[in-house]
Amino acid sequence: MTVNRGERQVNITISKGRAIVNGLAAPFKPSPNIGGGLKPEYIVLHDTGSGLNDSGSISWLSDKASKVSAHVVIGRDGRITQLVPFNVKAWHAGQSVWRGRQLLNGFSIGIEIINPGKLSKVSEGLYKGVCTIDTRKDPSLVVKQAKTTAHGDGYWLAYSDAQVAAVTALCEALCNDYPIKEIVTHWLISPGRKIDTNPLFPLEQVRLACLGGAKPMGIVDTSRQDSDESATDEDDVIPIGTADDVTSHDEIAASRPVSDESAGGLGQVWKLVKSKTQWATTALGGISLTSLSGFLQDWRVLAVVGAVTVALVALIIFERSRKP
Ligand SMILES: [Zn+2]
Repeated sequence: MTVNRGERQVNITISKGRAIVNGLAAPFKPSPNIGGGLKPEYIVLHDTGSGLNDSGSISWLSDKASKVSAHVVIGRDGRITQLVPFNVKAWHAGQSVWRGRQLLNGFSIGIEIINPGKLSKVSEGLYKGVCTIDTRKDPSLVVKQAKTTAHGDGYWLAYSDAQVAAVTALCEALCNDYPIKEIVTHWLISPGRKIDTNPLFPLEQVRLACLGGAKPMGIVDTSRQDSDESATDEDDVIPIGTADDVTSHDEIAASRPVSDESAGGLGQVWKLVKSKTQWATTALGGISLTSLSGFLQDWRVLAVVGAVTVALVALIIFERSRKP
């Protein structure tokens, strides 16, 4: 697929499990952290939670000791490095569930995007997280404050245009070559445990380009421009996903529930319902919180329609009973 990347274009096709970028196979650094054959149905987008240079993440994801991998890493400049062929399982999702299916590594392609994850503000233009981001020294770096129920409140580095163009072109090519049902993020499939990608990632835009507008569920976008308000953030960015059999270091909850100030009366009720159903979601296992949210939101509408219907029927019966 061809996507405009500023003045240049990115053309990506897939051949024998490898990404072909502008006619050339993407650089390949094989990772030993792989499973068996893969028939991908989903694409899972991740942040590396790293510094801005892609070489560190590429080394980590291809190091046997890390026990993690991904199919590709996408640098700030849009450069794609492939680590695992798309028809082989990579270890990127860890504990995860989506649409009633668990452990997404078995049926998804993992794309790691270079991004440091959650940042806190030090001073005007200066932010810290896993690395220091100084937007005064490098004006191409844009940091915005944003808050969602899934991510909490924080400062986040905007993805570069080149990254968004590369992710979009790659996802389009993958959707053409494999029966991809949906593009999801790590925070959607591992709610409460992972917060990547960050709230600034244009997921709907990428989904629209690749799948014709299948809307993501459960996304609350309350992003706003950076202000003087300091971030209430002591969460460190958690490491990238682990293999299914590695659970020791990544079970820490990645985000705290944060109240949504924009929610009105119904929003407050909905928040209560959501908090009360969180344990049930876990107990039910097969249902993700977001899909449950979507169902309950529909259910609420149905309940109102049902109540009106019952009232009308009662009125008719009452009217009839008055007749001699
Ligand atoms: Zn991830």
